[in-house]
Amino acid sequence: MIQKFVFVFGTRPEAIKIAPLVLAAKDDPNLECLIVSTGQHREMLDQVLDAFAIKPDIDLDLINSRPNLNGIIGQSLLKLDKFFEDHKPDLVFAHGDTATTLAVSLCCFNKKIPLAHIEAGLRTYDLESPFPEEFNRRVAGLASKYHFCPTQLAKENLVREGCSENSLFVVGNTIVDAVRIIEEKISKEKSIQNKFDEKFSFLKSSDKVILLTVHRRESFGEKMKNICLAIKEIAIEQPNVKIVFPVHLNPNVRSPVNDILKDVINIHLLEPLGYLDFMLLFKRSDFIMTDSGGIQEEAPSLSKPVVILREVSERPEVIQTGAGILVGSSKNKIKQVTNELLQRGPLFDKMSSAKNPFGDGYSSKKILEICKKHLDKSNEKRSEQ
Ligand code: UDP
Repeated sequence: MIQKFVFVFGTRPEAIKIAPLVLAAKDDPNLECLIVSTGQHREMLDQVLDAFAIKPDIDLDLINSRPNLNGIIGQSLLKLDKFFEDHKPDLVFAHGDTATTLAVSLCCFNKKIPLAHIEAGLRTYDLESPFPEEFNRRVAGLASKYHFCPTQLAKENLVREGCSENSLFVVGNTIVDAVRIIEEKISKEKSIQNKFDEKFSFLKSSDKVILLTVHRRESFGEKMKNICLAIKEIAIEQPNVKIVFPVHLNPNVRSPVNDILKDVINIHLLEPLGYLDFMLLFKRSDFIMTDSGGIQEEAPSLSKPVVILREVSERPEVIQTGAGILVGSSKNKIKQVTNELLQRGPLFDKMSSAKNPFGDGYSSKKILEICKKHLDKSNEKRSEQ
């Protein structure tokens, strides 16, 4: 029997992590696959979809009215309700912890539609950090029938919260699949590397390169300012280092970043990059400094040290395996760790050779197989009754 799977996403990181699942589902003749975008991150989302050559079947098109978080959730709920009513999915997939994830969770719960949660079980147990993501993912956990945990640690969080063991599956993180797919594409299509080399010709082969991103709500204000000041001092003190910073579109990021960093000659502030360019820049960099969640997972997938500009991480595996180091927003700590990594000594070697805790790059296949098997079983049970 053909099963109808609906994949919903709205932001750049969700799209990157759901894309491998969508591609695998589209290849499966026993699945009908519908792709829904809420358009929560309009421009940045399109860049990802282009990289994976995915086109949504429906775009809820929320961006026109530029809504706030409650606006996104409210509008998405109403539009998803109608979409699910019209299309009657057998299973809906949502990822992670965004406003889109929260809306999908509420909608599926109220309509009694089975929900599969990808990247389930991440926790800081602090509702303020990351805000509002910690709340969103807990709600997704309550609403889901299948929880796809990236690691054993994530599964243990859900066991402690009372989820039944047979709804929990440790499958790795689909971001490793995304990195694998993009690396394969880059090695097949030489023009991608050539275009990158042209666009990034300001990076000379002798340059040390740091890739930097900062965008999270918890970093806004004083923390963002401290991080920028630390970066500015590093750049001025080390003129042979180039710091490349694709700046998030959020005005709370752009304003302090431009004020503090725009006139420093070896800091390159760029617009957000498409996923192909971002991956190539990642590979060209010596190491990464970031407060991003997804980038913490990509770093061990690409054997790059990651300096985490946050006080806590819901991905403790990155720190435990040695791939990442938490520095928060203290100027001294940021500078101390960065300077040590720039010397390429034992810390650099240890971090860049850490084991990847997020799987083998084939999580999507495992997720789809599990879902198909479980749905078949529940259909069999229903027909016997
Ligand atoms: N990313 C990208 N272009 C950029 C910056 C980031 O494609 O200019 C990708 C990055 O590789 C990662 C994802 O966006 O997979 C992370 O998204 P973000 O940092 O916005 O969100 P988070 O992961 O913190 O939720």
